[in-house]
Amino acid sequence: MSGEAPGILIVGAGPAGTRAAETLVAHGMAAILVDEGQRSGGQIYRQPPQGFTRPAEALYGFEARKARSVHAALASLGEALDYRPGTLVWNIEKGIAHTLGPDGVGRIAFDSIVLATGAMDRVIPFPGWTLPGVFTMGGAQVALKAQGCAIGEPVVFMGTGPLLYLVAYQYVHAGARVAAVLDTSRAGAAIPVLPGLLWGGRTFAKGLWYMTWLRAAGIPVRAGITPVAADGERALEAVLYRDRRGRERRIACTGLGIGYSVKSEVQLAELAGCEMAFDPLAQQWLPEADEDGRALKGSIYLAGDGAGVAGADAAELRGRLAALALLADRGIAIDRALQARLRGRLRRIMRFRNALERALPAPFHLARTLPDETVICRCEAITAGDIRQGRALEPAELNRAKAFTRVGMGRCQGRVCGPAAAQILAAARGCDVAEVGRLRGQAPVKPLSIRAGAAAAVEDRARAASI
Ligand SMILES: Cc1cc2nc3c(=O)[nH]c(=O)nc-3n(C[C@H](O)[C@H](O)[C@H](O)COP(=O)(O)OP(=O)(O)OC[C@H]3O[C@@H](n4cnc5c(N)ncnc54)[C@H](O)[C@@H]3O)c2cc1C
Repeated sequence: MSGEAPGILIVGAGPAGTRAAETLVAHGMAAILVDEGQRSGGQIYRQPPQGFTRPAEALYGFEARKARSVHAALASLGEALDYRPGTLVWNIEKGIAHTLGPDGVGRIAFDSIVLATGAMDRVIPFPGWTLPGVFTMGGAQVALKAQGCAIGEPVVFMGTGPLLYLVAYQYVHAGARVAAVLDTSRAGAAIPVLPGLLWGGRTFAKGLWYMTWLRAAGIPVRAGITPVAADGERALEAVLYRDRRGRERRIACTGLGIGYSVKSEVQLAELAGCEMAFDPLAQQWLPEADEDGRALKGSIYLAGDGAGVAGADAAELRGRLAALALLADRGIAIDRALQARLRGRLRRIMRFRNALERALPAPFHLARTLPDETVICRCEAITAGDIRQGRALEPAELNRAKAFTRVGMGRCQGRVCGPAAAQILAAARGCDVAEVGRLRGQAPVKPLSIRAGAAAAVEDRARAASI
């Protein structure tokens, strides 16, 4: 693997990575595609384990046709693509991707890389969120999609964003008992951005359909709520929230799905050398790239939600555009008319996405006022109060707070707790969240066993000795 000449590496076999691979192969290029998942499809078109027989219509609903198309696209590439499932990229440095796959640790040398690493749940902690029975929205969906089971009985979904209604709909549809859907966004927040939402066309209509369907099915849907706590002795027994009039409410449940849309997975982009810039709408540091996904330096291309969350249809377009940019940069003739059409479609989707973020904003202000004793970093048991102590640090920067408190040093590497920790530190300092910076990307980007890490170190040492 490591002895191969450097070529094109794609990380991520979701809709973006799949379309990038398809485009490259269609132009006669060889490429390696790796994904840590055992089966392709990414998050939205996640496939159940081999042998599970739930039909595509039940798994993907309105998206069944698109799911089939993306799965078929990858399957059709056959041996023209070197596809390596079950392979995690845990570090990138100097043109080498460090991997952990079925045969253990490895290295893939590349001269161009397409990063299509997708997104993950955006979490805003609150008292009790670490109780057994509380899941992220994505985790709740994975339980249903991949394993065909519900996270509790009954289940409450709380947060905001399109996934809130979609996952609740999928649960009810699959026969689970959903006690309520609690949305932190206000019902009227969509009105000022309605013209932008209309650019969403079918996608917007589907969102409205899920909301209406849930209400018609008798599921209580409450907007403008404020989370108070997840309550229970040893495991979740109820969720407490304040309704839009400020009255405290309690709903008994054994499963709670929480989430505020999703955030881009950007660690590999940072390790690969991308410049990062703060995006005020997403409240996240994102890799800088042009409209086609071409990073500012190096032969790095960003595609899909990893370049900024825009949804599955945009991910397919961005996968194609990134591959076309790569081909053009290598002097290979591409269809410029097609490129222009893809860009036009992407711009329309981006108008919709921007309006959606404004209509269903993640309530980061809630993190800023959390009680001192609330756990923020669950891996290291670091509380909001611990982070606030960092207010006196100079420079008032998140990585300093990490060094002093260990926030973000655990298994998630700050991917879950980092955004909330930044908000808390910024509020304590009385400054904008962009001013406290971000937790720098560190390898391994996802948990790696000590055995695998040691094997990689031994291989590196042997390689250095042989040079
Ligand atoms: C949990 C979750 C559930 C979602 N469910 C829905 C839904 O039901 N409907 C909907 O419309 N949208 C959903 N979304 C949003 C939707 O998934 C995305 O908009 C779309 O899938 C983006 O496609 P993508 O190809 O950019 O990324 P993804 O589909 O996320 O694919 C990224 C791929 O990269 C792989 N990967 C990431 N990091 C590494 C690494 N270091 N090494 C190797 N492989 C890696 C992942 O395993 C994954 O397969 C969901 C998002 C999340 C996070």
